Amino acid sequence: MCETINDLVMPGVAQLHPYEGGKPVEELERELGISHVVKLASNENPLGVSHMVKDAILNAMDNGARYPDGNGFYLKQALAGHLSVSTDQLTLGNGSNDLLDLLARCFLGEGLNAVVSDHGFIVYQLVVTAQNAELKSAPANEWGHDLQAMAALVDENTRLLFVANPNNPTGTWLPLEDIAEMMATLPSSVIVVVDEAYFEYVGEPGYGSALSLLDQYPNLVVTRTFSKAYGLASLRVGYAISHPEVAEVLNRLRQPFNVNSFGLAAAAAALQDQSFLQNSIQLNQKGLQQIQQGLSALGISYIPSVGNFVAFEVPSDWSRERSVEDKASKNKTAAQALYELLLQRGVIVRPIGIYRMPHFLRVSIGLEDENSRFLHILADILASGAMS
Ligand SMILES: *Cc1c(COP(=O)(O)O)cnc(C)c1O
Repeated sequence: MCETINDLVMPGVAQLHPYEGGKPVEELERELGISHVVKLASNENPLGVSHMVKDAILNAMDNGARYPDGNGFYLKQALAGHLSVSTDQLTLGNGSNDLLDLLARCFLGEGLNAVVSDHGFIVYQLVVTAQNAELKSAPANEWGHDLQAMAALVDENTRLLFVANPNNPTGTWLPLEDIAEMMATLPSSVIVVVDEAYFEYVGEPGYGSALSLLDQYPNLVVTRTFSKAYGLASLRVGYAISHPEVAEVLNRLRQPFNVNSFGLAAAAAALQDQSFLQNSIQLNQKGLQQIQQGLSALGISYIPSVGNFVAFEVPSDWSRERSVEDKASKNKTAAQALYELLLQRGVIVRPIGIYRMPHFLRVSIGLEDENSRFLHILADILASGAMS
């Protein structure tokens, strides 16, 4: 009779901690009593929301008292046309996180397992563990996925294998050819999820969507989102493209109205506004260069990225002469200390210790002046704490 709530909970859930997102702008402004905070912490689109999207949301307001179209008819039509797939291959989600969770709920349970990569997107770990399934993580290759090492972890109880292409938080990517090669070696009892959340940003030759492999492999699922390049992070719209049988399974379990009317309308409008998308991609290209060159100029090493963010390594010698206060908390990594100093100066980036990268911070690409401000303040902090 002395169970704690945690004794009652499913074993997988007992292991979980709440997901910690990037610190909200309003929160830091409230804490510091300042304004004009720069948030470069959640890989959001710094251009905001396109005008066409705003209009679509306002129009959707007229039907705000009604339930959404649970089948997302118009958005699916638009996506099917845009991607040259059929609507029965599509599943809509409340962000693509919803789809990752649905996949785990449909295909995993006790005694089964899923394969991921070290430094891979953290949500895979959460959704797998929540199903009381085993997580098998393969060592990374440099910082990217090692597909052969991942395939080597597959056994008869493996039902899911998650590949982020590009990966967050490392910004690494894989050629389509490598994914095709892996698909050819895996048993059809493994559902391979290729998470293409940052697909729109990548212009590298050799990069390609796994969509082109769908006809060959009914055990392949591609996920995408409107949260990143399309600028709709707050509206929570993602989608999966798969074999119709997989889509049918996912649709059985999803909440009937998992995507709300404003999200549906906004996403359909965003798809139409391809010039906003192109502007976003161009701005990101320039910003990536600006940040990467700026980090190099400061002598900071980073992982070359094709996404809208860069993971950089905080020099370990930087913090040796930190203030007495900071030295008191010996357990704090240099990266955590730098993160906090950046916060005090009104810049929010993202610590990624949870990705087993305790010496790195991740910075999202912002507007040109936001990137400059980040680099400037970073240079200032490093100069004041550096070994002489
Ligand atoms: C941001 C992100 C997602 C998508 O998140 P949603 O907002 O839920 O669509 C999915 N995968 C990766 C790797 C991401 O970084």
